[in-house]
Amino acid sequence: MLTSAPKGTKDILPDEIYKWYYVEEKFREMAERFGFREIRIPVFEHTELFQRGVGDTTDIVQKEMYTFNDKAGRSLTLRPEGTAGVVRSYIQNGMSSWPQPVKLFYNITAYRYENVQKGRYREFHQFGAELFGAADPGADAEIISFLHLYFMELGIKNLKLNINSIGCPACREKYNRILKDFLRTKLDRLCETCRDRFNRNPMRILDCKVETCQNELTDVPALLDYICDDCREHFEKLKEKLAIMEIPYSVDKRIVRGLDYYTRTVFEFVSENIGSQGTVCGGGRYDGLVEACGGNPTPGIGFALGVERLLLEMESQNIEIPKPEGPDIFIGYIGEKAQRLAEIITLKLRAAGIRCEKDIMGRSVKAQMKYANKINARFVVILGDDEVESGKAELKNMATGETKDVHIDTIVDRLLKYKQGNKNE
Ligand code: ATP
Ligand code: MG
Repeated sequence: MLTSAPKGTKDILPDEIYKWYYVEEKFREMAERFGFREIRIPVFEHTELFQRGVGDTTDIVQKEMYTFNDKAGRSLTLRPEGTAGVVRSYIQNGMSSWPQPVKLFYNITAYRYENVQKGRYREFHQFGAELFGAADPGADAEIISFLHLYFMELGIKNLKLNINSIGCPACREKYNRILKDFLRTKLDRLCETCRDRFNRNPMRILDCKVETCQNELTDVPALLDYICDDCREHFEKLKEKLAIMEIPYSVDKRIVRGLDYYTRTVFEFVSENIGSQGTVCGGGRYDGLVEACGGNPTPGIGFALGVERLLLEMESQNIEIPKPEGPDIFIGYIGEKAQRLAEIITLKLRAAGIRCEKDIMGRSVKAQMKYANKINARFVVILGDDEVESGKAELKNMATGETKDVHIDTIVDRLLKYKQGNKNE
């Protein structure tokens, strides 16, 4: 117990963190290009926020939340997603009086008590964005084009964009009756959860992951065929905009998404590789959410992207993420005087922005060289009594094997020039 992390959690070790930096930096940079600004929200919120904001009838709220009482008896929950917290912050901070639309992005951990498997964990990471204040399909198109461009610049090819419209509450009321008529004769073949959903929120059944339930749904009537004229026009305009921007998509009448307050547009980017955990990113419009959480009626649309699934997808497509290089230079030494000189030079190099390593293990010169090799140092200098006396040393380029006699005073400048040259290449 003591020496293993809780089920469903993972360390991200130094040898793989560069992959995370890479997708995070690209995401931040892309968000900024699209005019989104970062928001950081708390890891826990009042449990009620998620009951309201994610929805009482969702799997997340019914089965997957980490809920606890604090010492004052408040019920708190670790965030299972980001949207509810961002909506809470939007209301609390009066963002409706900011210049509209309000465009926010985030990079968070999220917590769900899930069946752990590849691409499904109990602590995981999401990138997300939310756009408040714009009901126009132009906002939907902007959110989708953001993701399209992000995946394109990462070099990801196999992601398929599926879109659907689940209409407004009025369309859904009509549809729920039709759906219940269809399901009534199949009830005893559905799973227990779905039988419960039948009364509470029948549309959730469409999202059930149990195979026998999915088998019963092959001829299910699609909500898209029943949405009202306004919702249809909204959807048609979105499709037009995607076509103009040459963003390929398919209409998938089966997408309903896991969350309760979605209206109109819903979409997913689905991998052809990962299998049942293939949804890398999901999102949609939630025009009723801000009001449901206690704010003024405010249209909104957003998405959340699973970072673990994104990295799995990149791996399965053999997309290379540039590996970080080793230190620029290793300063070795033998003897006390040389050690002092090495300490001074090391600090000077580091102050100049150069990645520099030096022995602090009391190792022999031979062992220091071995270590310099292991950590992939680009240059190596070894200092001894002779070097201290003459002020000169041999600078070895480990990649080419080339050596040069240099004045020790010039090492900082040489390394700086070398790095500059590399950047200009
Ligand atoms: P799924 O249908 O796979 O359970 P979801 O509909 O519950 O996904 P969302 O709540 O929409 O997922 O979250 C958005 C994204 O976050 C998902 O598309 C996925 O990439 C990622 N995600 C969700 N749950 C997990 C998890 N338990 N582990 C890792 N990533 C997850
Ligand atoms: Mg889920």
